[in-house]
Amino acid sequence: MKPSRTENPLELCCLPASAQETLRHYDHRVASLLLQARDAVDPAMWEKQRRLPSAFLTHLEKAFLVYDQSLRFAQSQLHRAGWSITCAPGCSHCCTQLPSGLTGVEILYLSHGALRAGVLDRMFRRCLERLELWEEIRRWNAQDLAQACLERSLAQRLHRYNALKVPCPFLEAGLCSLYRYRPLACRIHFSLSPPHWCRPDHFQNAHAIRFNLEPSHQVMDALERLDQVLQLNLSDLLVCGFVEWVVNVMAFRPIAWTENPH
Ligand code: SF4
Repeated sequence: MKPSRTENPLELCCLPASAQETLRHYDHRVASLLLQARDAVDPAMWEKQRRLPSAFLTHLEKAFLVYDQSLRFAQSQLHRAGWSITCAPGCSHCCTQLPSGLTGVEILYLSHGALRAGVLDRMFRRCLERLELWEEIRRWNAQDLAQACLERSLAQRLHRYNALKVPCPFLEAGLCSLYRYRPLACRIHFSLSPPHWCRPDHFQNAHAIRFNLEPSHQVMDALERLDQVLQLNLSDLLVCGFVEWVVNVMAFRPIAWTENPH
């Protein structure tokens, strides 16, 4: 996910009980839609032919829509409680971070969006470029370790990547070109400080107050079950997972969508 949990300045448990109850209803609905998507999968057909029924996609899309509704509800409740989120449409200052913590099915959904928009090849090439950069950072880290430097954790490597100010492969003219398909890590990331402080080169960046509205265990569990039925074991980093999906899972083919069995 974009920042780590420990950076979170607030938790949803600060909200009134009635709001938390509503959020639990949303979580239940999202998890139930994800499990319906899982139940639609025919594992043998997926494994042998990379075929999925269109019902899988219908349930997955609904799950993301309901999840967005729950985030809007949470934001409105936080606003009422005195927390003003400053993120606005069109702001992409946080899109130099490398989204992490992704499940395989989120990568599937992103690639489906890229294919639908006719930009899969271009996005794949960009992901490859970012992957080379990521590998370079790993090598720098190895050198640092040789110099007894302690910059070895994933969080520190992600911080280093962000400092390079490389835009996300899916960013086009300052906007997310796959906004509808973006992963949870991007949906749940918010700022309480002026938006431009999120720019890695802004002098106040170290003081920016950002947080994630973390998905519930119920939702994460349902996403992981989807990964299990699809046997997806991809990197949880956006660019690495995307390349693995295109090359290792799909072998450069599109998913074959089938009509639902009657
Ligand atoms: S997927 Fe979209 S929202 Fe997420 S970092 Fe990339 S451009 Fe930004």
